[in-house]
Amino acid sequence: MIVNADAKSLEFENRFVIDPLTNCWNWIGPKHRQGYGYHKQMMAHRYSYKYYKDDFNPTMCVCHKCDNPSCVNPDHLFLGTHKDNMQDMVKKNRCNKPIGDKHHNSKVNPDIVRHIRKKEMQQRAYAKLYGLCQRTVAEIQKKLTWKHVADQPEIGSEGRDQ
Ligand SMILES: [Zn+2]
Repeated sequence: MIVNADAKSLEFENRFVIDPLTNCWNWIGPKHRQGYGYHKQMMAHRYSYKYYKDDFNPTMCVCHKCDNPSCVNPDHLFLGTHKDNMQDMVKKNRCNKPIGDKHHNSKVNPDIVRHIRKKEMQQRAYAKLYGLCQRTVAEIQKKLTWKHVADQPEIGSEGRDQ
């Protein structure tokens, strides 16, 4: 991947791989523990923003649209204030994913929903089994989410969107 064929950019570009699905530029160079890469004593995503987009006030945060701390794709980055960044993090940690299996991030499908609603296991165990937040499991059981999924699949309607 060559964006600008000078040595400085090559050094940066050799340190990420592009995920063909998400188009994230995943940093494979040195990383901080939280998953953020660093390059030339800068956070790699901040470096990327500065290098490919624009210089910015160092008090500004460079945030990820894609929720992937190791991504350095300038198109996935936006400038925010520290406050924006904190709000963004809070929002993402709340794991409020859109309802329904059409959303590409959804790890849940109607079969999983029915299984979770059988309450054969503790919420924590379901969460672990399906890689969900416990809160997500609770919401499914309370029918706050996935309301459209019937407890028993109707014969003949399986696979149909209802
Ligand atoms: Zn990304």
